[in-house]
Amino acid sequence: MNALFNNYSRRPISIVEGKGTIVKDSTGKQYLDFTSGIAVCCLGHTHPALVKTIKEQSEKIWHTSNLFESPGQVQLAEKLVKDNHLSHALFCNSGAEANEAAIKLARKHTGKHHIITFENSFHGRTFGAMSATGQEKIQKGFGPMLDQFTYLPFNDADALKNTVDESVAAIMLEVIQGEGGIHEVTEEFAKAINELCEKHNILLIIDEVQTGIGRTGTRFAFEQTSLKPDIVSMAKGLGGGFPIGGILATAELYETFGPGSHGTTYGGNPLGVAVAQTVIDLVFDDRFLEEVREKSQYLISKLEEVLPQDQFEIRGKGLLIGIDCHKEVASIVGKAEEAGLLLVAAGAQVLRLLPPLTVTFDEIDEAVAILKTILTEEKSVVS
Ligand SMILES: *Cc1c(COP(=O)(O)O)cnc(C)c1O
Repeated sequence: MNALFNNYSRRPISIVEGKGTIVKDSTGKQYLDFTSGIAVCCLGHTHPALVKTIKEQSEKIWHTSNLFESPGQVQLAEKLVKDNHLSHALFCNSGAEANEAAIKLARKHTGKHHIITFENSFHGRTFGAMSATGQEKIQKGFGPMLDQFTYLPFNDADALKNTVDESVAAIMLEVIQGEGGIHEVTEEFAKAINELCEKHNILLIIDEVQTGIGRTGTRFAFEQTSLKPDIVSMAKGLGGGFPIGGILATAELYETFGPGSHGTTYGGNPLGVAVAQTVIDLVFDDRFLEEVREKSQYLISKLEEVLPQDQFEIRGKGLLIGIDCHKEVASIVGKAEEAGLLLVAAGAQVLRLLPPLTVTFDEIDEAVAILKTILTEEKSVVS
C-alpha cells in the first residue's frame, strides 16, 4: 500500500525516459511503447519539435485564463476546422470534459435532453460522460446516472430506427469504439444515422477523443465515413502528451455557447495551445498522414502473415489496431512487457496496438516478431 488511491490496476514498472517509440524503465530495461500513453503521444516521446515549443513558450507565458483574448486559441481553432465542414472550437483539458461540453451544447441548442449512445461505448468518467458511456462496469456503484441516455446495440440500424423520434437531441458515437474492443461503425449504420438525424432534426456528436488527430490515418476518423458530425470532441493526441482537449462544431451552433454559458479555467492555456499547434502542424500534413496509412497497411499485413486467422481477428484503422484473441488477454500483455513490448487491452479479449504515429517500419517488424513468439506460445499452451 502507498499514499495513492488504488483506482488503477498498474503494471509493475515505472517508465522514466522515452525517445520516439522507445521507453526505459527505472531499472534501465527498454521497451517498444505500443501504448503511446493510450493514444496520446502521437509524435512519440520527447519529440524535438514539442520539446522546443515547450521550452520557448514556457519562457514567454504559461497561463492567462480566458479573461483575455487568445490569438493562439484562434489560430489553433482555424487549423482544426480547415478542410472540413466545422467552424468553431472551444478548448478544455481532457476527453471527458470535451464530451461534457458536447453534451451541454447539444442539450442547450436543441432544448431537448434525450441522447442516444451505444453499448460498449466509452466517453469518459465525469458524470455526464459516464452517463453517456454504455458500460455497466463503468457506472457501477455511483448511483443514478444523468437522466435520459439510451444505450443501443452498436451497428444495429433497426434498433436505432425503432427508438429514435422527435424527443432525441443527439446521437453520440465513436467511429471506432476504442476502449470497447476496436469495433468500427459500418457504412450501412452510418447511412441510417444520417437519415434519422436529417429526418428528426437530431444533432450528431462524434467522440474523436481516441480516433482523432491522425490516429486512424486521416485528420479525423469521420472523414473516412459518410458521417457529418455537428459536434466533434477531441483530446488524447491533440497535445501529444500535454493535457488539452476540445470540441469543434458547425456554424449553426455558434450562438448557443454565448458569454457565460460554458468554460473552464485552464481551457486553451497558452502552453497547451502552443504544444497542440506544433502537433497539428506536423500531423495534419498530407505526406505525414499518407505515411500513417502506409505503416498501418504494413502492420496489418505483417500481423496477418504471422497470426493464424482462425484464432486471431485483426480490426481497426490507421494505428488503432485490435487483435481479438477470443480469450482473456491480461496474461499476454504481461508476457509482451517481459519481452520488451508495451501493449494495452481493449476490453477483456482484445490486444490494442497504439504505436506513436512516428513509429518506424523496423519497430513494427520488432513488435510483430515479439507478438508472433508470444501468441504462438500461448496457442501451444492451450492446444
Ligand atoms: C479516453 C477516451 C475518453 C476520455 O478521455 P479522458 O481524457 O480520459 O477524460 C473519452 N472518449 C474516448 C473515445 C476515449 O478513448
